[in-house]
Amino acid sequence: MTRTMPPTFSFEFFPPRTAQGEQSLWRAIRRIEPLAPDFVSVTYGAGGSSRERTVEVTKRLVSQTTLRPVAHLTAVGHSVAELRHIIGQYADAGVRDVLVLRGDPPGAPKGPWRSHPDGFTYACQLVELVRSLGEFTIGVAAFPEKHPRSRDWDSDIRHFVAKCRAGADYAITQMFFHVEDYLRLRDKVAAAGCATPLIPEIMPATDVRQIRRFAELCDAAFPEALAHRLEAARERPGDAYRIGVEYATEMADRLLAEGAPGLHYITLNRSTAALDIHRNVLSSRSLHAS
Ligand code: FAD
Repeated sequence: MTRTMPPTFSFEFFPPRTAQGEQSLWRAIRRIEPLAPDFVSVTYGAGGSSRERTVEVTKRLVSQTTLRPVAHLTAVGHSVAELRHIIGQYADAGVRDVLVLRGDPPGAPKGPWRSHPDGFTYACQLVELVRSLGEFTIGVAAFPEKHPRSRDWDSDIRHFVAKCRAGADYAITQMFFHVEDYLRLRDKVAAAGCATPLIPEIMPATDVRQIRRFAELCDAAFPEALAHRLEAARERPGDAYRIGVEYATEMADRLLAEGAPGLHYITLNRSTAALDIHRNVLSSRSLHAS
């Protein structure tokens, strides 16, 4: 498959918990800023003060950088009135991009979902609300290995397409480690008559223990061959780093060759691996173009 628009590239951050974390976040942001990414996104915490920090970081991105911030927002624990208030705060601060999510139960991401009595049960409802409140660009989540709570592929795709039709402009995928999973999702969504662009999320797998934990949390299959290579290199962090960056670069190159509309890099608030992968991708694209 070929595409005519140049692919977008973007980076994801999370709201820091400490003053040191804050410094590391802003160092990463300042290193990424000169590359002029299409957008940067800030995740939304499970509750309490981390949510306020998402709002603060997003507002600061608008007022103090040249970057275009996308604010993640979940329905977890919020009434509709509270969600309206947060969206209003974003609009007032000049934030026009929201990644709309249902979220997972706080403290037990795989536990039973409980809606707020005056809130929403599914992301599509929050998409409709954001759409009704102004001129926002809306992203949603997509799952290359099927959402873990979906009974089967058919219902998964049906609900995803309904969420897009409720007003989503694009989707960003969950992390994944096999390109085929992305291609299968894309084909299923296209076969259901939905043309919403699916931006693949790229997770640099340089620390095997950390990535295994993340992959388990979101039910992403972590390739055993890659895990073995990373385990074998655990005493040599430089080698483990190189292996993870190479793996992600190969995935990213192949995804773009297959027509993916962009790449969304997870940074974990440290820009080095994401930037190295991105530079590799840019240089292999310029080699192919010349
Ligand atoms: P939904 O689209 O509501 O889907 C949830 C489940 O319900 C699916 O199984 C779906 O098939 C089913 N479903 C949907 N609609 C219906 C319906 N009408 N009837 C019956 N079933 C239905 N979490 C955070 O807490 N903060 C973040 O910042 C964050 N960022 C993320 C970014 C990305 C790119 C991704 C992929 C995930 C992110 N998440 C985040 C995690 C996300 O909140 C969880 O994966 C959550 O379980 C799914 O959210 P969703 O928006 O896809 O939910």
